[in-house]
Formats: sequence, C-alpha cells, structure tokens
Amino acid sequence: MERELAWNKYKNKHIKEMEVLCKGYKEFLDNGKTERECITQTVNIIKKAGYKDLDDIIAKKQKIKAGDKVYAVCMGKTIAMFNIGTKSIEEGINILGAHVDSPRIDIKQNPLYEDSNFAYLDTHYYGGIKKYQWVALPLAIHGVVVKKDGSVVNVVIGEDKDDPVVSITDLLIHLSGEQMTKTAAKVIEGEQLDILIGSKPLAGEEKDAVKKQVLKLIKDKYDIEEEDFLSAELEVVPAGPARDTGIDASMIMGYGQDDRVCAYTSLIAMLEVENTEKTSCCLLVDKEEIGSVGATGMQSKFFENTLAEIIDRMGKFSELALRRCLANSRMLSSDVSAAYDPAFASAFEKKNAAFFGKGMVFNKFTGSRGKSGSNDANAEYMAAIRKIMDDEKITFQTAELGKVDVGGGGTIAYILSLYGMEVIDCGVAVLNMHAPWEITSKADIYETKKGYAAFLKNA
Ligand code: MN
Ligand code: MN
Repeated sequence: MERELAWNKYKNKHIKEMEVLCKGYKEFLDNGKTERECITQTVNIIKKAGYKDLDDIIAKKQKIKAGDKVYAVCMGKTIAMFNIGTKSIEEGINILGAHVDSPRIDIKQNPLYEDSNFAYLDTHYYGGIKKYQWVALPLAIHGVVVKKDGSVVNVVIGEDKDDPVVSITDLLIHLSGEQMTKTAAKVIEGEQLDILIGSKPLAGEEKDAVKKQVLKLIKDKYDIEEEDFLSAELEVVPAGPARDTGIDASMIMGYGQDDRVCAYTSLIAMLEVENTEKTSCCLLVDKEEIGSVGATGMQSKFFENTLAEIIDRMGKFSELALRRCLANSRMLSSDVSAAYDPAFASAFEKKNAAFFGKGMVFNKFTGSRGKSGSNDANAEYMAAIRKIMDDEKITFQTAELGKVDVGGGGTIAYILSLYGMEVIDCGVAVLNMHAPWEITSKADIYETKKGYAAFLKNA
C-alpha cells in the first residue's frame, strides 16, 4: 500500500514539462490574487484557445455542436467552460471543479479612519484564517470600486516593485508579556486586523489631516470619493510573487494556492484535451471558503442554468434531458489536501495522509467527526478512477484530512452530488494551508494536471 514518489520516475523531459507548467502556474498566482482576477485571466487564456462566449451564441441564435468550445461567466467571479464531445449530452459530461476564492482580509464598507496621525482601513476577514499569521507582513490591496455611474475602477496597490505596500501591525515583543499568555485564537482578534495605509498629513489641514491626504491621493489616482467605498470589493492579500522554494527549487510558495493550484491545473488539462467523446467541463467557482453561498458560489443555479442553455443551443433541451445529463455526469471535485507535516505529526494518521511528491491526492471522503458533511464517493467510482489513473501511469495517493476527531473540512463535492452524479474529492497537497504563504510540491502539481487530463479523456 506504500505509494511511490513521482520524482523517481522522471526523465529530463518530464522535469522540463513540469517546470513549464509551474512557470505558468506562478504567473497565474501572481496575476490572480482575487477571484475576479483569476476569472479575467482564465477568459483571456481560453479565448485564445477558441472558446466562445455563450451569451454571444445565444444572442446570435447560433447552434452548438460537437467540437465547439463555449464558456459563461457569472458576475466576473465564476466561470463554466465546455468542450463539446461527440456523444449525446444525455449520457453525461466529465466535470473538473475547483474554487478561485482564497482566505484574505476584506475591507469594510465604511473603512477609512484616522487615529494618532495614522490612517487605517477597517476590515472583516474572509474564510478561515489564523489571524496572528497576517500581521507584520507586506500586504497588497486588490479589487474593484464601482461608482454610481456603473464604471468599475480596478485597484492593485503593492505588487509592482516600485509600489508601496500596506500592513497590519503587531505589538513589540518587549511589551507582549500579557499578549503572549493569550491563546492563539485571541492573540490577534478580528477587529485588530486594521490596515495601516498612511501617516503623512495634508498640508494646511488640522483635523484628520492624514485621512484627508489619503482621500486626496485616491481622488487624484483613481477618481474615487470616500463614499465610493460603499460599493467596493477591496481585498487585502500578501504582497509579492510566488517563489520556488527549497534550495532544490522542488516546491512553490505562494498566496492563494488553495485552491488556485487545482483551478490552474484543471484549466490547463481542459485546454490540452481535445476531441473527446464525452463533453468536458471545467468549473472555477467563487465563495467556497465561506460555504459556497451566493450567486457566484457552487450552490447557485448558475451551472445548471448554463448547462440548460447549452443543451437548448444543441436543439435538445427538455427538463428530462438536462436531468439525465447531470445524473449521468462524473466529477472530480478538486480542492487542496492537507500535506503531512513532520513538525505536526500528531495531527495526522500516517497511513492515510497525503505526502509531498506522491502525486495527485484522492479523498474518498472529507467532513469532520464521523464524516459529517462529506460527499463520500462510491467505491465503484473510486475503482473506475483508480483504473483511469493506473492506465495512464499517473502517480496518485489517497488521504483524509488529518486524524479522526482532530478536525476536518468541506468542499463543493456534496453540492454536485445532489444531482445524483458520481463525485470524488481530489487535488494537490498543501503545507501551511490558509496561511498567507502556502507551499506545494512541483511534482504533485504536474501529476495532478496529468490526472485531470486522463480523467477528461477516459472517464
Ligand atoms: Mn479549498
Ligand atoms: Mn480552503
């Protein structure tokens, strides 16, 4: 039952392919630090590969047929793309699903204030974070401000090497006697996560002169008024690029690898695999980190509606055809897995943990405390997946998220399984999951991309 290290089978050409994939992946991480930025990049990439906007197809009353490539975007934050196969769509489609939202710190709707000649932005964090990890770091602000006239101002501050960064302060160790006795959950609390953005007063002003200077800057640079924060989505994330990690450069450290590592590898597999019998689909969704809620989360009807439109454009729509298509589909619900960490060995059960370098991870079930909330894939489906992976010589492993009763987590798998389709959780193992900088193995990224391609071809 011991699984192999993928590294041991690699020849030079594999290492070269792996590095090309990982270079593209690092660029994807650097240019996609928000869900919107990830979707914008994805649309740019797939348009070059011949994907057409479903809205245009509907508007022009065009037909969709085998070989066509179409996509639909929901509110700039979620995308569904389809590569139409030759088989009847009622026989089901092969779906790769991953999420592109990541834990971060969101700016509140009335955020700007001044205290002791510092200007701050007040925040509310998004997703599960260890708050103490987000202080004393260079941070960047990414997002949009939408003005009343509907115009959208894109904001990115802190990524260019000449850009200033922002930060959240921590108490100096010299005065931390009391702080150091607190539990980790209380060392830094939610309302302390305010972003320090300025300290220079506006000349000639007495009251709130630093805040006024900040407002002048954003007015000059972005033509934004303070009231425009009311309709903004600004996300504070770690500043700077993803980097090779380890002196052997075998790993990647970067922000937001949960779950952009699965999103990017799914996207690349989708572009590589052409001319399939079954229709291929890739879903990159928002809001997973807060329960897959909202119009752009997996629980939204967006995917179902999009599929209905596609079947309609094929001239085959009926409620029954749609339901049959969904029930006969197969899905890899991709999300990161917890990598075994020797420094925290007691949190894992070693026979059923995911190891760096041992390839794509399959989680038959997720959930916590008695598999609660888990999709728990069918054994028959897991058997089919094993065969697909073994036939294409993909290095894979199976795991669960830590020891029984230690904790757990959920994914989007249970939502798609509501249609009666086969769904299994899988993905890439990550160290420091949900920390500002997460770490993955290049070999695992490479094997996972190949695993997705094998699934699209053979499932
Ligand atoms: Mn995730
Ligand atoms: Mn997560």
